[in-house]
Amino acid sequence: MEDKKYLLQTCKHCGNKGLLKIVADYKQHFKEMDGTDVIFTADTCWVLLECPVCKGISLYKSYTDDTMVTPYGYESDVSMEYPGNKYDYKHVPESILKSYQAAVKTSKVDLNVCLIAIRAVLEKICKERGSKKKNLEAMLKEMVNKNILPETLDQCSFLIRKLGNSGAHGDDIGMSQSDVLELIDFIETILYYIYELPIKIANVNDKYNLKLENKAEKTLECE
Ligand SMILES: [Zn+2]
Repeated sequence: MEDKKYLLQTCKHCGNKGLLKIVADYKQHFKEMDGTDVIFTADTCWVLLECPVCKGISLYKSYTDDTMVTPYGYESDVSMEYPGNKYDYKHVPESILKSYQAAVKTSKVDLNVCLIAIRAVLEKICKERGSKKKNLEAMLKEMVNKNILPETLDQCSFLIRKLGNSGAHGDDIGMSQSDVLELIDFIETILYYIYELPIKIANVNDKYNLKLENKAEKTLECE
């Protein structure tokens, strides 16, 4: 790690994928002894990275221990510890995921554009779940009525919709970046609730051989 000055990573602050500058690093070495014999070793490398685009700081972690040896050498578990994603999106449809990522990207650039982008994510979710309604308000109402969205999340959605409209009209609504990040947080929760949570629950049930009565995804019935 010492001889490298840059690491190829995606900056989660702005979405830039490129060479992030290594500004500091620290290696933790762990050794388990049995008398005078070393019976287990593990290394954790912490690397502080600076994005050349947004100057955001990220913390990258790489972990290796004796159990991770392969015929090609040691494997390591790498992860971006900060800023972390609260959720891991594996089942969110690609076009929705891309819109969400675009919204996150714009949050550092233009708040109004970001609000429009967040609103677009919400619309895509409703359409993907089968809503044929003409406007977002009607779509959301339908999603809540059919229990695809719980009422608590509908309240978040209301906020997103309202603010997204302001963004589209270019009104100065005096929103700070942290307000916008809060809205992104709501969207993340909605994505998790609709696409990830049902699969996680199904997986746990499968593990214990419990049969779910209805494994079908919740979508709106076409009228
Ligand atoms: Zn960046």
